[in-house]
This record gives sequence, C-alpha cells and structure tokens, in this order.
Amino acid sequence: MKVLLLLGLVAVALAEITRFDGGKVYRLQLKTEEQVSIVKELGDTLQLDFWNTENEFLRVDTDVDVRVNAEHVDLFGTALEQGEIQHEVLINNLQAAIDNQMDKDVSTKSHAYDKYNSWDKIQEWVTSVTSGNPNLISREVIGNTYEGRPMHLLKIGKQSGSPKPAIFMDCGIHAREWITPAFCQWFVKEAVSTYGSDPQMTDLLNQMDIFVLPVFNIDGYVYSWTNNRMWRKTRSTNSGSSCLGTDPNRNFDAGWCTIGASSNPCSETYCGSRPESEAEVKVVADFIRKNKPIIKAYLTIHSYSQLLLFPYSYTTQLAPDHKELLSVAEGAADALRSLYGTKYTSGPGAVTIYPAAGGSDDWAYDLGVKYAYTFELRDTGRYGFLLPESQIKPTCEETMLAVKYIAAHVINSL
Ligand SMILES: [Zn+2]
Repeated sequence: MKVLLLLGLVAVALAEITRFDGGKVYRLQLKTEEQVSIVKELGDTLQLDFWNTENEFLRVDTDVDVRVNAEHVDLFGTALEQGEIQHEVLINNLQAAIDNQMDKDVSTKSHAYDKYNSWDKIQEWVTSVTSGNPNLISREVIGNTYEGRPMHLLKIGKQSGSPKPAIFMDCGIHAREWITPAFCQWFVKEAVSTYGSDPQMTDLLNQMDIFVLPVFNIDGYVYSWTNNRMWRKTRSTNSGSSCLGTDPNRNFDAGWCTIGASSNPCSETYCGSRPESEAEVKVVADFIRKNKPIIKAYLTIHSYSQLLLFPYSYTTQLAPDHKELLSVAEGAADALRSLYGTKYTSGPGAVTIYPAAGGSDDWAYDLGVKYAYTFELRDTGRYGFLLPESQIKPTCEETMLAVKYIAAHVINSL
C-alpha cells in the first residue's frame, strides 16, 4: 500500500514537470530597425523567453539569445526567414539539453561539488560542512523565504574576539542559473580546504569573514528542480494576477522599477509591488544594512554571459569609484582567464549589457559597500542556463581566482 501511495505521489510529481520537447534556443543577429521591431512584436505574441537581454532593449547590432516553445517554432522560423534575420540555433531540442546537463555515468545520491545539487542536498550540506569545520564556519538563519524555507547564511573565517571586516556573497538569486549555487558551495569547500596551505586564502580568512548565502531564491530553485527548469523568479503570489513571482534582482531599492524592469507580474523581470516586497530580498537587505559597518564588498553570482559587472545598472552615469572598480574587475578577469583562457568582459552594467533598475549590486553600492560586483559565469550561450555538469569544476576553479583577486584588493584597502 505504501509503495502504491509512493508511486502515486511520484506520478503526480512527474506529471507536474514542464517538458520542453522541441523547444529551441536561437541566437539572432539584428541588423536593421525593422528586424528589431519584428522580434519585439514576436516577443509579445509568442511569449518569447529572452535569455541574455530583454524585449525593451533589443537593438541593432546585438546578439539576442531567445527561447521559443515548440508550438511556436514553425511560426518563428517563418518570421525569421521573411524578415531575413540572421540566426543560428544554439539549442535544437531544449528538453534534450535539460536531460544532458547532468552527467549520465555518475549516479551519486549524496551531495557532490561537481554535480548540481537539489535544495535538500544543499541544506544537508550546509549542516554538515558547518559541523565538520567548527573553527572556520558558523551559520545562522537570517530569515525565511516566501514559502517558509529557512535562509541559512554561512560565515567563513578564522574566529576572532571582535567583528572582522567582511565580504557578503550570494548565489542563486535567479532560480535557473544552477551553476551559481554550485559556485558558492565550491567556494566554501576551497576556503576551508586551502586554509593553512594557500597563503592568499589563509590571509583572507585570518583578516576577513566571508558571508556566503548558497541559494538566495530557494523557493524558485526548488521549483526549477521539481516543476520548471526555466523558472527564474521568486514564487510569491501577485494580487490581481494569476502569474507568480517577482524578479528578486529588480526588487532592490535602487532606482526601483524606473528602467529595465517590468510592472507586469507576468514578466520575467517583474519588479514587484514595491521595493523589497520579496521576503528573500528584505531578509538580505536587512542583514546587509545591519552589518553595514563591517561589510566591505558585495559579490553576487549569476549566469550566463561571462561578465564582471559593477554599478551602475539603473543609470548610465558612472559610479564615483568607477576607475577603481574597473581596474579591479579587469585584474580579476585576467586572473580568471589565466587558468583556462575563459574571456570575461568587465564594465558597468548599464553600458556593458543593458540598463536594469532594482539590482542588488547597485543597492549595496549606494548603501556604501564600495566593492559591489555581479558575476555572470559561463558560458556565452552554447548551453546558457543548461551548462553541463562537466563544466562545474573548471568554472568554479577559474571563478575562485577572480573572487580571490577582488578579496585581496579589499584587504589592501582596509
Ligand atoms: Zn541572474
């Protein structure tokens, strides 16, 4: 009976998973204003999912990665032909790419650093990595998500009698960017395993604490595992709309909803009903406000596009610390590239990619956290959000070098 019940539950769970058979991801090269307007209109009518830009920022001479549902593929293809829009197919069958992101040969049931881990596994890991390294890691629950999941924050650093200067780093603001929680876990592992042997890491953890929030948008992350791999937003309800969720990286109080964000709850970049309307955003903002005197750097990890961005995104004006922020970003990008040759572009968000208000890095910077950086990890679109597990290790290894470079600069500035 129990087995039957269990099978029934599994069947229900499976039935809810959104499949993407025949869905495609295209890269478009828009050469004329007419082509831009064609794609803009298609964006609305076919509910296209833009992966590396937003509908309102489509412009001539940009590469646009866009996901098209199977039922619209024919129509979309015809429109591309009629508009003579240059394009390539990045992902020919999205469901196959989803199925292939996980290594087939390894059937590990436990947490692994070179695998994508479900939230359950990450939560177990949070407990075990803390208890296994009591001298270097402590943890606290800083609040709860909309659906009531506890948000565990890890503090990595050599214990000290008085508060140390700190770096705050979060991963997984956007649910479908699975490589990013993988990086936060990798960072913690590397920090504790190289403390004492790597002079740079030893110095860092002696002088500073690193707050690590392994998954910011836990509800969305869980949903991206159980129901819809392409989910990006939080899971909160919106009054007057059947669409769920807010974009947490449009929900911070930094030029909130003025540009590059949508007031439509059905949009992937919905800014929310007010700044910090999202439980998770409020929890993180409250923590950083409370600890502002010690927090010297804010790092937020996203994917994809291989970018190292810094304020501002809500305005094209340069930040007062632009020169320093740029030179540190370029140094970090060089360090990253030294390992596997992976090329990053650095610059302020608004001019490097597109304007977007309500982002966490701009908010932290305006609060007074000078070294505020947004990473966009691998790749540049071949796999996009569906980066295969085989790339977790190299991606994390190279990203470590960039984070350590920034941290070393922060230490020098203390
Ligand atoms: Zn993101």
